[in-house]
Amino acid sequence: MRAFDLIVLGAGPGGYITAIRAAQLGMSVASVDNNLDAAGKPTLGGTCLNVGCIPSKALLESSEHFARCRHGLSEHGIGTGTVAMNVPAMIARKNKIVRGLAAGVATLFAQNKVVAISGTGRLLGGTRVEITPSAGGQPETLESKNIVIATGSSPRDIDALPVDGRTIVDSAGALDFDAVPEKLGIVGAGVIALELGSVWRRLGSKVVLLEAMDTFLAGADDQIALAALREMTRQGLDIRLGARVTGSKPGRDGIEVSYENGTGRQTLEVAKLVIAVGRKPNTSALGVNEVGLLLDERGCVHVDDYCRTNLPHIYAIGDVVRGPMLAHKASEEGIMVVERIAGQETRVNYDTIPWVIYTSPEIAWVGKSERQLRAQARDYKVGVFPVSGNGRAWAMGASVGLTKILADKRSDRILGIHMMAPMASEVIAEAVLAMELGASAEDLQRTIHAHPSLAETVHEAALAADGRPLNFYP
Ligand code: FAD
Ligand code: NAD
Repeated sequence: MRAFDLIVLGAGPGGYITAIRAAQLGMSVASVDNNLDAAGKPTLGGTCLNVGCIPSKALLESSEHFARCRHGLSEHGIGTGTVAMNVPAMIARKNKIVRGLAAGVATLFAQNKVVAISGTGRLLGGTRVEITPSAGGQPETLESKNIVIATGSSPRDIDALPVDGRTIVDSAGALDFDAVPEKLGIVGAGVIALELGSVWRRLGSKVVLLEAMDTFLAGADDQIALAALREMTRQGLDIRLGARVTGSKPGRDGIEVSYENGTGRQTLEVAKLVIAVGRKPNTSALGVNEVGLLLDERGCVHVDDYCRTNLPHIYAIGDVVRGPMLAHKASEEGIMVVERIAGQETRVNYDTIPWVIYTSPEIAWVGKSERQLRAQARDYKVGVFPVSGNGRAWAMGASVGLTKILADKRSDRILGIHMMAPMASEVIAEAVLAMELGASAEDLQRTIHAHPSLAETVHEAALAADGRPLNFYP
């Protein structure tokens, strides 16, 4: 029986980073992953690399270029003639990026002497794991000192609208359309709906989002969510809140979706429908009941603050456990687990995990929202600075949005930073670092920011928290 110091189940951003860090710490590591590409070949990197973070950002980039060429260049004095979109070429570029990065993970494994095994892992009790090889053949039993479960998550489905992979697709399907659907419906108005809805809207689809809740982007600060709803609607996303889908039937050129809202029963005819109503943890192949692995009320593997499960030497991280389903959260949990196995005191600071939604402008935040602070009865102050007061944003032709800082009224400590702003995914890093180091609003006020830069909106929002922004005229 092959034996290792560590077996990692799943090679997404949680599992593959765990494996590499463990190898750096001197452990012998086996990484077991069952993901296969369209050609049936093993591909590392999990959801994030293959059908998540990376391919969606590749399409967002392509569609942004297209939209800019079509509508945004004439004011720069640039004439482009007729601009055409070649969807198969865009998809091929995306697939090439995915293939390259997945091969990169395989190279990292080889460099770090991580043994990559393509198969599905099942817990056998103790620290043994049975592997059913993806290529077929006899199952193999592996032994190890510790196990990390990093099996990730899969799209949630809706009974009334089963995914058929052609007309009704999940998020992976929406990354692979071979043509721009004339009318695209998306069930849900969360992160995936906004990102992939933006892609296809920019390329010419009429996009309708059917969201069950009456509120929009419940996880974001209310002021940012409202600004985002207005801006996404202005851009052409048709966002229908309080819409509960009930079923579908074949339509003239696609399907007719029925839903109910405050005014009664409605129908919507679309060429394609994307189901984007959240994700569920991957636990079904793990042999949970046989070994007594505890799940929580949402079906996630139950873990404590250090990602320890109820079973000795078995840990779980990433999308398969509680907390936000984000790649960087998964990676940091894996690093914590193996560093603690190696005797270090590593912790994950769950209060400073950044969120980014890659719309245009981007939406990003870290820390508490106003609603959360009110619920905690915290005495806080607010600094808001509009992106329209930022010179770099004007030069970029992207002066829509706002940056907002929430700080403790007495101690001045920063409690949350929220933005809808160009390149917010990059600018938010300053906010995360400030909060990680326990900075005050005054620390940001006295930090020199390059001019002109988008980060100046953070500086100005910090000044605004004390009523003294410099470039603000109401
Ligand atoms: P996963 O990436 O899901 O990897 C788990 C792996 O384990 C998979 O390869 C799976 O096949 C394998 N597996 C499952 N069961 C077994 C088993 N029993 N044995 C062996 N292998 C198994 N997050 C961000 O932070 N930023 C983004 O921009 C972003 N964009 C996204 C866009 C989309 C369209 C989607 C769907 C998700 C996006 N996410 C994003 C979320 C991100 O992809 C996940 O949070 C992240 O992939 C979770 O990492 P993980 O390692 O926990 O799991
Ligand atoms: P989500 O939780 O962001 O949004 C799902 C939405 O669907 C919610 O607004 C919910 O109220 C709604 N909904 C649920 N059931 C519904 C129903 N029956 N009818 C209509 N609406 C319904 O989930 P998602 O967009 O599917 O994304 C899944 C996860 O993937 C995200 O939570 C996030 O963690 C991750 N992700 C992250 C990024 C990023 O970091 N940029 C991008 C994409 C996905």
